[in-house]
This record gives sequence, structure tokens and C-alpha cells, in this order.
Amino acid sequence: MEHIVSRKAASISESPTLAIDSKFKQMKKEGVPVIGFGAGEPDFNTPDNIIGAAKQALDMGLTKYTPASGTLDLKKAVCDKIKRDTGLEYETKNIVVSNGAKHSLTNVFMCLCNPGDEVIIPAPYWVSYPEMVKMADGVPVYINTTEESGFKFTAEQLKDAITPKTRALVLNTPSNPTGMVYMRGELEQIAKIAAENKIYVVFDEIYEKLIYSGSHINIATLGEDIREYTIIVNGMAKAYAMTGWRIGYTASNAALAKAMANIQSHMTSNPNSIAQFASVEALEGDQSSIDVMKSEYLKRRDYMCEKINSIDGLSCLVPQGAFYVFMNVRGLLGKEHYGKVINTSSELCADLLDRALVALVPSEGFGIEGYVRLSYATSMENIKEGLDRIEKYIKGEC
Ligand code: PMP
Ligand code: GLU
Repeated sequence: MEHIVSRKAASISESPTLAIDSKFKQMKKEGVPVIGFGAGEPDFNTPDNIIGAAKQALDMGLTKYTPASGTLDLKKAVCDKIKRDTGLEYETKNIVVSNGAKHSLTNVFMCLCNPGDEVIIPAPYWVSYPEMVKMADGVPVYINTTEESGFKFTAEQLKDAITPKTRALVLNTPSNPTGMVYMRGELEQIAKIAAENKIYVVFDEIYEKLIYSGSHINIATLGEDIREYTIIVNGMAKAYAMTGWRIGYTASNAALAKAMANIQSHMTSNPNSIAQFASVEALEGDQSSIDVMKSEYLKRRDYMCEKINSIDGLSCLVPQGAFYVFMNVRGLLGKEHYGKVINTSSELCADLLDRALVALVPSEGFGIEGYVRLSYATSMENIKEGLDRIEKYIKGEC
């Protein structure tokens, strides 16, 4: 019997990052000695103080429904965190706590888009943005960037992409997959254009705590106008190594927050009560674990970039943030490897997985050809071994 799903469902593809991660985890489970540079998931355990808070939540019996858009305590902790980091004042009515930043973003697009509304997404982009926009009946519109421009778009490009149907711009800094960070001057220009054209800025700052040079600027701090149009998206996953806990949040104007809360109240109800309680501890408790993780990431980034740039056929920019290196593999494409011509980064990643047992994410899913994303949220030992295997593969020694 043939089962037909809705047109909308049929138009959505699987998350390629999660697909590679699950393939990698399955191979590992089967005893294959594969090295994973795939998923953007901290390899550190969640800090002890946060785990302690979760245990306390269980002992306190916090096992019931909470308000659908999050507990008052966590919303207050989010407001305090934003005030501490940016000086911006938000009230709890501006905050919605969701099941991970992915869920927050989906809520945002559902509340912004009417059918056919356009959302500008600079490429390379994180794999989920276009699919989320499509799920919300919006239309993704891409601005292509290049390695030469540091994978950052210009104000001119933004102006050219705006049409009467443009509703929002997605801005992710530090960026997944490139690790690039937008500087104050660049953000000022973007803010001016967005505010003049009354376009919302979906400001995904989930990697804000992982910056190795320069500093993170929240675009909402650049003026009253742009603050009104900014939707801050953040979460616990990356800064606190809490990927599995599923807590994300938004800070936005109150009308949008109310609309998102309404949708969430029907779609999922509250995010996990225990994870919410533990997230208060994450935001308000000892922050020193972030520095410990960050200094480890920095060592790995430096090793990885140096090694990649020493291998013939490979190169990369040095990322300023997040935990990804976006490696240029154009020198390897269109050439014969092990008796077969490899034309795309997807084919290259498939062959590297088969022959060298290294899991990588090809760049097609990020909206650009000729690159491969490596996550350095894995041990230095794995990084060394994995890069050695890639080098051997290129030398024809696999
Ligand atoms: N934004 C970006 C840029 C990401 O890389 C991720 C990774 N998962 C998310 C949002 C979503 O994070 P979460 O795990 O909180 O859903
Ligand atoms: N954001 C991470 C990544 O890009 C986790 C996987 C996902 O959510 O897509 O690898």
C-alpha cells in the first residue's frame, strides 16, 4: 500500500548533521573504530553544579507541568543573564522558554511568516534554517557569501535581497558552520538596513560564549529601533554542554512572545520541568566551566587549523568562534581518488567515511559546494588521529 504524506512534509528533508551523527554513533556501537567530526555537540559532560540542581529538582518533586512558556524563575534568570551580558532590560513577558533553540527558532518562524513571506538566510547557513522557514510556509531567500569575504555578507548584499515580501533576516554569530563572528561595524550597518526596512532580525547567538578572538556583540544593543526588531535566540546546549536537556529561549517584543507561547501551549506544553530548574543553576551558578571548555576548544582549534593548512589540497580560515572548522576541499574535487573521480564534497565525505573511517559533514547541506565541516568538540587525541587519517587518504595510503 502506498502511503502519501502531505506536500509540506514531503518538502522537508532530514537534518544532515543529525543523520551523520546517528550513523557515526551506530558505527561506534558496532565496534567500528570511526572518528567523528560530525555533530556540533560538546564532548564535555554537563557541569556538576547543573547535574546537582537536576537531582534536587527530582527530590523536590518538580515533576509536574510548568507554565507552557517556561517557569517564572527561569524567565527571570534569562532576563538577568541578558542584562548582565548586554545591559538590555527585558521582562518575563518577553521571554519564551522552549525545547531547545531549534524549537525556539521554529516558533519564531511560525509566528513571523504568512504564506509566501520571505526570510533572508546568509549562506553557508546552519542546515535547519531553510527547513524551519519552509515548515512555517515562508520562503527562504539566500545571500551567498564567499571565503574571500570571510563568509560574511555585506550591507549591499542585504539591501539587494530585500523585497516587499521580506519579513526577517537570520543572523547567526558566531556562525555554524563557519565559526565567523560579525564585528560591531558590520552589525551596525546590518541593523540600520533592517530597522529602516522594518525587517526582524532573528539573532541566533547560541555560540556566543565560545569566542576566541574579538567579542560578541548582540545586535539589539545597537539602538532602540533595532532592539524592537530583534528576536534573540539562545539556549543551554553549547555553552553548558547541555545538548540532551533541550532548553532554548527567545527574548523578543511581548506580542511575538505571546504568540509563540500560545502556539507552544498547544504543540508541546512546557519544556522539561527538571531541565528548566537545572537551567536556572546554569545561568546563575558558577560560570567557570565555560572557561575550562573554551580553553580546551581553543587548543584544538589551533591544532586543527595548523594541520589542515599544512596538508596539500586542503585549507581553512581560522574561525573566531563556535567549534567548527569549515575546510576548503576544492583542491581534491574533480580528481581521481582510489580509481574513482570524486566531484562533490558529499562524495568525498562518503569515501572518507568508508576508507578512512572519519565522519565529516559535507557542505551541500549548508548551501555551498566545495567545503567540509569538522567539529572540534571532540578530544585532541581524536582530532590528531582523524586528521592523520585524512592526510593518509589524500596521499593515497588508505
Ligand atoms: N542554532 C544553531 C546555529 C545551532 O548550531 C544549533 C545546534 N543544535 C541550534 C541553533 C539548536 O540548538 P538546540 O540544541 O538548543 O536545539
Ligand atoms: N547544531 C549541531 C550541528 O550543527 C547539532 C546537530 C543539529 O542540531 O543539527 O551539528
